[in-house]
Amino acid sequence: MSIGGGAHMAIERARSIKCTAMQIFVKNNMQWFARSLEQGEISAFLEHAQRAELHSVFAHANYLINLAATNPQFHANSLRSLSEELVRADQLELPFLVLHPGAHLGAGEEAGLDRIIESIDRVFAGLPKKAKTRLALETTAGQGSCLGHRFEHLAHIIENVREPERLCVCLDTAHVFAAGYDLATDKLTKRMFAEFDRIVGLDRLVALHLNDSKTARGSRVDRHENIGKGQIGLEAFRCIMRDRRFREIPKVLETPKGKELKEDVVNMRTLRGLLASPS
Ligand code: ZN
Ligand code: FE
Ligand code: FE
Repeated sequence: MSIGGGAHMAIERARSIKCTAMQIFVKNNMQWFARSLEQGEISAFLEHAQRAELHSVFAHANYLINLAATNPQFHANSLRSLSEELVRADQLELPFLVLHPGAHLGAGEEAGLDRIIESIDRVFAGLPKKAKTRLALETTAGQGSCLGHRFEHLAHIIENVREPERLCVCLDTAHVFAAGYDLATDKLTKRMFAEFDRIVGLDRLVALHLNDSKTARGSRVDRHENIGKGQIGLEAFRCIMRDRRFREIPKVLETPKGKELKEDVVNMRTLRGLLASPS
């Protein structure tokens, strides 16, 4: 949800279309840095009368950050930018910040994963211990040299950081589909989650990005589509909406939308409709 006009405005936008969960950026998502949040902005958000109507609010990191960056300046910027966003998210009392693990840019998967692990350690080492916001690594489509398209990548990062308790995971349906996981039927979707559970652990799962995919399974191309209009098909979404294990897991849309939020309304209606529809 857009934070135009301040983070507290996102609450109003979300509630105007009856969202019960919300994902926001903590600043402009195409910029490295921003001035710090002022106390007034923090309290406008924390003390907003409608804030309690949202059962879950969390953040997504900006798109420039690459913890596996090979260019020293890019890498330094990434560390500083991520630290600052974690601080902002913590000031807004958000439980986690979703992050794409990073792109190795030709250095190779292992070197990239090592660099990500080392970067996460440095970021957390530099943060105050009282900062509670965790980092939610997101499954990715594996576009270009992006890591995180195999569950093994996320597991490897979590297993090797110094403070694994500060990490959790966000699963994006469009990304896992584009990465090659089969979601064609209820059974196959359950199988994907069983694999996720075996490799990463469902206990690490804190959020679901429910997006359909414009691109084909295994294309490794990340293009989100409105629910039911892409190549995933409704069965996977029905399976997720009805699975009791995911009842308390916040589900957010990252589908194309205009200022009026009409597309969000339609997508939410489609998803909620799947709760009741016969399978
Ligand atoms: Zn993302
Ligand atoms: Fe996502
Ligand atoms: Fe995406």
